[in-house]
Amino acid sequence: MIISIASGKGGTGKTLVATSLALALKDEHRVQLLDCDVEEPNDHIFLKPTFTTKQSVSVPIPSVDESKCTHCGKCAEVCAYHAIAVIIDKVLVFPELCHGCGACSYLCPEKAIDEVPEEVGIVEIGNAGGMSFAQGKLNVGEAMAPPVIRKVKEHIIPDAITIIDVSPGTSCPVIEAIRGSDFCLLVTEPTPFGLNDLVLAVEAVKKLGMPCGVVLNRAGIGDGKVADYCLRKNITLLRVIPLDTEIAALYSKGIPLVEGIPEWKDSFIQLFDKIEEIANERSSIAQRQGRNR
Ligand code: SF4
Ligand code: SF4
Repeated sequence: MIISIASGKGGTGKTLVATSLALALKDEHRVQLLDCDVEEPNDHIFLKPTFTTKQSVSVPIPSVDESKCTHCGKCAEVCAYHAIAVIIDKVLVFPELCHGCGACSYLCPEKAIDEVPEEVGIVEIGNAGGMSFAQGKLNVGEAMAPPVIRKVKEHIIPDAITIIDVSPGTSCPVIEAIRGSDFCLLVTEPTPFGLNDLVLAVEAVKKLGMPCGVVLNRAGIGDGKVADYCLRKNITLLRVIPLDTEIAALYSKGIPLVEGIPEWKDSFIQLFDKIEEIANERSSIAQRQGRNR
């Protein structure tokens, strides 16, 4: 089972939930945690993994042989990302915009474009307290997170409970990370910003046809509008974590909630049970609908 932990905005407690859920389950299940928040992976601060393998992630960037190029402009025409431009008698490549799709080299009539791998990040694989752990790290200044996320997800263990920590927001890296999950857990806080970004995140998850539920963190600040929204939209509010100085102090010291306050372990196990129930129910409905077609 694959569970993505996402949030419309940063700083809502996604890492707290991802690490505590994984730690709560690891004694009874085969569990792995994949940190796909590749611009700022920080689960390792809480889990202190030992890494055994490091893999480089690269994107094929076009390199133009000017001696063959006729400056026809075809490459710039086909590039959807404006990563290559032809200016009079010069072809300019902007590697930071290039998605490595290969369209320009494939369609160059003079076969003047070669592809040169350029490293955009790394993936580190190892273990953390009895569970498998992998994280992606995007190189500083790089914008192409999806290739790094795809590489991290190659390490998904099919018969394990896989928890994916997703970057905040609703952009391409988020969609890449949650795609293929059985369930998306959205972590938010009871503030106007929390609600605004939750609405956007719910819309993105629903477009993928994925079941989702909400964890409301720092309950006690703000108002009841997130809970009202969940009720209106029939989204299960799966867990409420209060605004609490002890929890905040543990987080600031890099101590997972279930280790600092072991009473929370049962709460996270129950959270998983509920997620499994919703995901299984959704999968049975999908199977029934498939049979009736
Ligand atoms: S498509 Fe090929 S020949 Fe035409 S401008 Fe681009 S690199 Fe040069
Ligand atoms: S590889 Fe794709 S994204 Fe990169 S320059 Fe060529 S067409 Fe554009």
